[in-house]
Amino acid sequence: MRDQQVCRWVEIAGVDIQTGPVYFRVPPTFPHRIMALTATEIWTRLLDRARGELPAQTFKTWLEPTTALLLDGDTITIGAPDRFTAEWNESKHAQLLASYAPVALGHPINIVFRVDEERRGRPQMDLFVAPLPDSKDTKAAATHASNIQLSARYTFQNFVIGKSNELAAAAAQAAAAAPGKVYNPLFLYGQTGLGKTHLMQAIAHEILSKSPGLRLCFVATEQFTNELVTAIQTRTTAAFRRRYREVDLLLVDDVHFLKRTEATQEEFFHTFNALYEAGRQIVLTSDRPPGEIPGLEARLVSRFQWGMVADIEPPDLEHRIAILQNKAHLDHLELTIPDDVIQFIAHHVWSSVRELEGSIIRLLAYASLKHMPVSIELAREALRDKLKSGSDDADLTTARLSVATIQAATAQEWGVTIDGLCSKSRTKHLTIPRQTAMYLIRELLGLQLVEIGAAFGGRDHSTVIHSLEKVLELTESPDYKRRIDSLRENLRQLPR
Ligand code: ADP
Ligand code: MG
Repeated sequence: MRDQQVCRWVEIAGVDIQTGPVYFRVPPTFPHRIMALTATEIWTRLLDRARGELPAQTFKTWLEPTTALLLDGDTITIGAPDRFTAEWNESKHAQLLASYAPVALGHPINIVFRVDEERRGRPQMDLFVAPLPDSKDTKAAATHASNIQLSARYTFQNFVIGKSNELAAAAAQAAAAAPGKVYNPLFLYGQTGLGKTHLMQAIAHEILSKSPGLRLCFVATEQFTNELVTAIQTRTTAAFRRRYREVDLLLVDDVHFLKRTEATQEEFFHTFNALYEAGRQIVLTSDRPPGEIPGLEARLVSRFQWGMVADIEPPDLEHRIAILQNKAHLDHLELTIPDDVIQFIAHHVWSSVRELEGSIIRLLAYASLKHMPVSIELAREALRDKLKSGSDDADLTTARLSVATIQAATAQEWGVTIDGLCSKSRTKHLTIPRQTAMYLIRELLGLQLVEIGAAFGGRDHSTVIHSLEKVLELTESPDYKRRIDSLRENLRQLPR
């Protein structure tokens, strides 16, 4: 904003060898020629900035396939290859990109996304839109058999969406709405216990509810490998291939377990190709992105990246509360587990959704054993191990305000660990809470920059300065502001 009112800096060709680029300060009205950019030039400038700010995968998936269509006054219309991408960009990226305009263009701009009819479909989507075969009768039996593999609870309806999984959930819903046509394959990755299998099966439930006759195969990667080994030993590979290559929907769970053996990867590769070329939907899950799976052949890495790669991160506090409330509701436990106990668990257990669910089960077992109603005291006792084993868990209900408590509270809020905060990792899900914790330590404790750097794995003071500046920028987002404000409020209540 500030640049908009003052002036722009223009780099000119004349470069002084001694001092590097020469910059001239120019008044805002100078020269209109620069402002008269074409729609494409404007969009390129905004995208250049977004490329540096957004995670590479997000940029590649949502913004790369866009084109500038029209510039009308202060409004630029951007074309997206499909409705889902247009809507997603409109809700997630339009505001962010518009916020770059004052600096990048020298004036504000409105951004509108719509489907670009001319360019409808990304290359990989155009390739295979083969209709699914519909000889329903022969399929009914197979469907029944594979349905047994699905958990009835793993539906979209039971899946609580929050910031950490909204991309994955939206992609899964899109894949379920148009199997084989939009995101193929859909590759979901994230740490254990964050809902990958749940989401994958939700796709299957949704597709089957609309087309009950479809043949579906849900398989754990290890099972696929074991069956292949048996098939080779018993010379039944033809039957093995038929089983996997004639399905309409293939769900392969935990592909990071794909054996490094050539035969397994070879077979998987051909199965993948056969289904993909027939336009059948493939969904894969893994604990890491395709490129980071050790020993995975390059051709499989590239195929896994063809469609959509979406990650799931640990849920933040608000999301953990929602998941617990949903769980209590599903199991008719609203009256058994009071709200303050839900809050307590959400504050203290944050590593995964599976851990959250495990905490409830343990708590209920404990309550029934002791013949006592569920309360915070009982939860503290029942979950003693979990509370202690989280070394990050400075118990915020009794702690004093300190570097450690600020780190712990921030880590909890973002669902990350203190080790992560102090690590060298620069993934976005760690940098934002790390920068936030640094900022709050500076603000609430007034520590020196070098002291703050030292508390985060020995970072230098310029990194801390950058973090403080970054938080000021982030605060412009209402969502982020709400989070840091509430965190600060909670921390202020701690005794010093
Ligand atoms: P993963 O496959 O990533 O290890 P799962 O899909 O097995 O994780 O999920 C672990 C448990 O947590 C399951 O019981 C699942 O239903 C539940 N779960 C995970 N994410 C959510 C969510 N967003 N909403 C509701 N339940 C969830
Ligand atoms: Mg799983």
